[in-house]
Amino acid sequence: MTPDSDIIIVGGGLNGSVLGLALAQGGLSVTLIDARPAPAPDLTAFDGRAYALALGSQRLLSVIGLWPGLGEQSQPILAIKTTDGLAVPGIPPVFLAFDHAEIEEGPMGYMVEDRHLTAALHAALAATPGLTRLTGETVTAQQPAPASIALDLASGRRMTARVLVGCDGRGSGTADRAGITRTGWDYGQTALVTGLHHSEPHTGTAHQIFLPGGPLAILPLAGGHHSAVVWTEASSLAAAIQALPDSGYLAALAPRIGRFLGDLTLAGTRFTYPLALSLANRLIAPRTALVGDAAHGVHPIAGQGLNLGLRDVGALAEVLILAARRGEDIGAADVLTRYQRWRRFDATAMALGIDAVNRLFSNDNPVLRAGRDLGMGLIARMPGLRRRFIRQAAGLTGELPRLLTGRPI
Ligand SMILES: Cc1cc2nc3c(=O)[nH]c(=O)nc-3n(C[C@H](O)[C@H](O)[C@H](O)COP(=O)(O)OP(=O)(O)OC[C@H]3O[C@@H](n4cnc5c(N)ncnc54)[C@H](O)[C@@H]3O)c2cc1C
Repeated sequence: MTPDSDIIIVGGGLNGSVLGLALAQGGLSVTLIDARPAPAPDLTAFDGRAYALALGSQRLLSVIGLWPGLGEQSQPILAIKTTDGLAVPGIPPVFLAFDHAEIEEGPMGYMVEDRHLTAALHAALAATPGLTRLTGETVTAQQPAPASIALDLASGRRMTARVLVGCDGRGSGTADRAGITRTGWDYGQTALVTGLHHSEPHTGTAHQIFLPGGPLAILPLAGGHHSAVVWTEASSLAAAIQALPDSGYLAALAPRIGRFLGDLTLAGTRFTYPLALSLANRLIAPRTALVGDAAHGVHPIAGQGLNLGLRDVGALAEVLILAARRGEDIGAADVLTRYQRWRRFDATAMALGIDAVNRLFSNDNPVLRAGRDLGMGLIARMPGLRRRFIRQAAGLTGELPRLLTGRPI
């Protein structure tokens, strides 16, 4: 029997939606299922949530046709400045600055607000032939068979595909049902996220201030006077800060930022995200693959979570579309193994690297502090190493899928 679709994607978050578009544009039939009801994206509501998209991710969004609109609403990241906190009064913070002019490719990336990215995705999904979207539907069971995989939905529907892709985030039910276990730990930290208006322009500079409780990122948004704040603290302190009225929240935040952005006002909504590392021990199972946070949920310290997911998207789309063109069974174990080989090392290395950076910087141990300040000082003086850091942050290193180099599959 012919399956209902070539591919069923469970999870219509950012990774699932981008993957659905890439696969459908490559000629495969896709069903995208999400547990949430169809949202009505409200373009007027600024809420402060935004993503630092590496240049490679921006190229992918460009090839699949999302960038013309998004480009106008995004802010190029022209420089990154890191500061080793203000933990010891009187000792000047170490400064490490990266400028996009040090590489030839252009800005290191772009800040894109969640509301704009979500709206662009919803419009593109609705306009893409070959893609069926089911919202408000939860997957409850999956059974792989020799030539297809069957899914049961809470509504009682049953559907089949050649491949099932789990884009269902941390705690992925797709992974659990496939018997894929996870490794990980809780950071005991929570990210406080909000938007900020400032009287001085941000000049396209992203700031990362390493404080003992965790990193504080101030990320430039389009227009020059708004930034997104991702402020990590120990979870108990974060809960107390989140419970404060806006005036108390700002009174706690402002001294951590200092005066370089002038007068500060809260703008947007206040969110909290408890932070944990979650790594799937395999990326594939019979007729099943994992993508994005379902495969690896990382600390937001380096703004790499979505960028890692989009690398998975580019790699899986390339593997499946090329296999289909060659007439292979796209759900065969050897086809899915190509995807796992391509992505597993990069994703694990990046997740553990981010974990190490968080451990190194989220404390006030004098030995670690001296070591990291020495390291940052050395990097500041070594142009070759600095360029490597910038190229890595821009997502230009490693074995890149075609979509992330700006080429169609
Ligand atoms: C504070 C913070 C700041 C961040 N900043 C950045 C940044 O600057 N740059 C960056 O690259 N990344 C960033 N990230 C990471 C990024 O947000 C995530 O990596 C990304 O959103 C994960 O997307 P996803 O589609 O994989 O998963 P999710 O967004 O978790 O989506 C999963 C989807 O699956 C659906 N689902 C779950 N179970 C079922 C089921 N049984 N049936 C049907 N549907 C189901 C859910 O409804 C949901 O829509 C940040 C993260 C945090 C917490």
